[in-house]
Amino acid sequence: MAEIEREAMEYDVVIVGAGPAGLSAAIRLKQLDADINVVVLEKGSEVGAHILSGAVLDPCGLDALIPDWKEKGAPLNVPVKEDNFYMLGEAGKLRVPNWPMPPLMNNHGNYIVSMGNVCRWMAEQAEALGVEIFPGMACSELVYDDKGGIKGVVAGEFGKDADGSHGPNYEPGMELHGKYVFLSEGVRGSLAKQVIAKYDLSQGHEPQKFGIGMKEIWEIDPAKHKEGTVTHTMGWPLGGNAGGGSFIYHLENNQVYVGFVVHLNYKNPYLFPYMEFQRFKHHPMVAELLKGGKRVAYGARAISEGGYQSMPKMVAPGVALLGCSVGMVNVPRIKGNHNAMLSGKAAAEAAHAAIAAGRAGDELSDYETEVRTGAIGKDLKKVRNVKPFWSKWGLVPSLVLGGFDMWTNTLGFSLFGTQKHGKTDAEATEEASKHKPIDYPKPDGTLSFDRLTNVAFSFTNHEESQPAHLQLKDADVPVKVNLPKYAGPAARYCPAGVYEFVSEEGKDTRFVINFQNCVHCKTCDIKDPSQNINWVTPQGGDGPNYPNM
Ligand SMILES: Cc1cc2nc3c(=O)[nH]c(=O)nc-3n(C[C@H](O)[C@H](O)[C@H](O)COP(=O)(O)OP(=O)(O)OC[C@H]3O[C@@H](n4cnc5c(N)ncnc54)[C@H](O)[C@@H]3O)c2cc1C
Repeated sequence: MAEIEREAMEYDVVIVGAGPAGLSAAIRLKQLDADINVVVLEKGSEVGAHILSGAVLDPCGLDALIPDWKEKGAPLNVPVKEDNFYMLGEAGKLRVPNWPMPPLMNNHGNYIVSMGNVCRWMAEQAEALGVEIFPGMACSELVYDDKGGIKGVVAGEFGKDADGSHGPNYEPGMELHGKYVFLSEGVRGSLAKQVIAKYDLSQGHEPQKFGIGMKEIWEIDPAKHKEGTVTHTMGWPLGGNAGGGSFIYHLENNQVYVGFVVHLNYKNPYLFPYMEFQRFKHHPMVAELLKGGKRVAYGARAISEGGYQSMPKMVAPGVALLGCSVGMVNVPRIKGNHNAMLSGKAAAEAAHAAIAAGRAGDELSDYETEVRTGAIGKDLKKVRNVKPFWSKWGLVPSLVLGGFDMWTNTLGFSLFGTQKHGKTDAEATEEASKHKPIDYPKPDGTLSFDRLTNVAFSFTNHEESQPAHLQLKDADVPVKVNLPKYAGPAARYCPAGVYEFVSEEGKDTRFVINFQNCVHCKTCDIKDPSQNINWVTPQGGDGPNYPNM
């Protein structure tokens, strides 16, 4: 095929992804220099359309970036008033008191927010400062300079046919060049993944770890709604099958965020994270809360869990990785938005200083130093052993040991050093022959729902004529390897029902990819045991259309 010719636009800084990390970087750059040219490209149809968090927001990132956020009308309207933690059994619950928890676990001072709405507000702040923001623009390729550094991205390619050829309405998109490119694509960024591989940025660091977070918004009976209440649970239904737990956050307008996270290092390929979430809602404590209410939205997104020891090198020539493209979630707090914002601010300050000194296209090593030694590093270092303890010893020992280690780290030391994660989540999957299938109850259509019904509430949409953005490296692997060896786990780990093994009489089993259902969570890219699925961006504007997630 002939080389595609594209127009190029020049900026000082090109930012991929309008999440909290990317928008913070854009705002900080303009605060430092009103004349600096900054562009933000977002694959969602609008800013916020692909944002999915809990979310309880620690405002420290916003305080550092926009200290007068309250006067400027930031949508942080629900301060946390009550903070509960329960261990669940199938029918019962045990309240874990707050007093033995280290202070970092305290949610008072935090806010229950829609991060989608926070990002929409941040985009308004950025635009008021002169940042150019283009939603509906997926960045599909990196552009290299002649020394092998990164000088830009390709965005806005539209109109390919299913076989990859150029359809009648083909648009080649544009190259956006910058003195620096910031990749703030969130967890398992598709361009960040390429950069990490090309420059071997994970070398010397532990593998990144992940969970899959699923979330529904419910409108509940006002009599049961307690604005500002935060509840976390562990235990049932996952038990010893996997790490994870739930969150229930009471926001405004009688709405409740009900979410469930399953750590993706589970061994049993029969585990079905989505069905664990659905089953969880039948616990008497949750069922009672939701009874009479209605689910109004659904979504899913991977969450980075490797923390301190898994952060790869985050700069290479011309490029910096921000926020969860590095993996900055504090796992026991289930919080990463504050660190995403702080990383955006730090990257902006490093790029501003470099540009002011006449530099371009080199490594912003001051940014990396700030992340590792500043507020983000300190936040993540204290909790670095919680996840490895959990993976090695299970829930209860990890609560005791992890709690003890968080306390000593708060006082400035650890008896355990820095624990390793070891395997990747894909490698953690064991062969089906070592495990038994799990019997999940059928969704009742009131509290629990089948996947496809729920996916309709993510409002996801993909132009069907384009090539599948879930690419198989080897088309034979799903049926020839993953089905016999791992009982075809793609049919279960995907929270949107994208993957199916279809068997028809007299025909060979087929692996079907319903990419139209994809909610961009990236679980397949992470958990496929053969690492055979590559998630690339579909055309811009496609994907979920989350309301106030
Ligand atoms: C279920 C769940 C619950 C969570 N709960 C909390 C919580 O309560 N509190 C908390 O602080 N944190 C929470 N987190 C973590 C938090 O969501 C992340 O730490 C945070 O989103 C990271 O911000 P980011 O800007 O790095 O990435 P994101 O918020 O993921 O934003 C990335 C943006 O980049 C866009 N993008 C990606 N690739 C491209 C591309 N190639 N081209 C163009 N655009 C692109 C995406 O569409 C998206 O808009 C939770 C996460 C999950 C999954």
